[in-house]
Amino acid sequence: MIYFDKVTKFYNGGLAALDDVTITIEPGEFVSIVGHSGAGKSTLLKMIFAEELPTEGTVYFESNNIAHFRKKDLNMLRRKIGTVFQDFRLLPTKTVYENIAFAMEAAGQRNEDIAADVPHVLDLVDLSEKMDSFPRELSGGEQQRVALARAIVNQPDVVVADEPTGNLDPISTYEIVQILKKINDLGTTVILTTHNKGVIDSLGRRVITMDEGRVIRDDKSGQYVL
Ligand code: ADP
Repeated sequence: MIYFDKVTKFYNGGLAALDDVTITIEPGEFVSIVGHSGAGKSTLLKMIFAEELPTEGTVYFESNNIAHFRKKDLNMLRRKIGTVFQDFRLLPTKTVYENIAFAMEAAGQRNEDIAADVPHVLDLVDLSEKMDSFPRELSGGEQQRVALARAIVNQPDVVVADEPTGNLDPISTYEIVQILKKINDLGTTVILTTHNKGVIDSLGRRVITMDEGRVIRDDKSGQYVL
């Protein structure tokens, strides 16, 4: 479970990027976070994988206060959370296969497991035939599918996706959402930010709406109201 208890975040001066946010995300949920640019969506996601810490309040991951984590705990946390971003963030000099294998090597996985699991996730994102391609040889949608494969290859408990379809055409967007659904069906918690009303409508799952750092709506049935 992820639990934000009265979380407020100030960057240097200015207004609160998050303002007294209290939310709970249960294991296996598929939660979308919507809101205008600057509403605090990315800040909220960054707190889940401890890229930012609260100014006030507490973020708990599996009942542990993330602010108390030492390096070892942070490494474990980041292994339990797969991340995907709007700009893909693939390694340009590595092939598709190598990009994913690298994430497993960094997590200290054994070579036999890497050889078994990389083809498996490539199949899941339907990119087996592109495994020897470099990122520059792929479409945006394909690159994002590689990024998703990389995010899940270490079998995280949670996938955090910050505007993963922000740069994609409607067909690629549909494919990414289908994969996120599949990942969720397999038991992984998915937390997504998006501006795409069509994506929210097609999911029909919980939607948290943010405005000026506050949660202004938390709708279990997937209403997108902005
Ligand atoms: P969203 O993802 O909804 O667009 P963000 O979480 O990125 O919103 O930003 C929320 C607020 O915090 C904005 O006012 C933004 O300018 C500010 N902000 C975000 N990151 C930083 C940062 N690293 N330093 C200073 N201000 C930031």
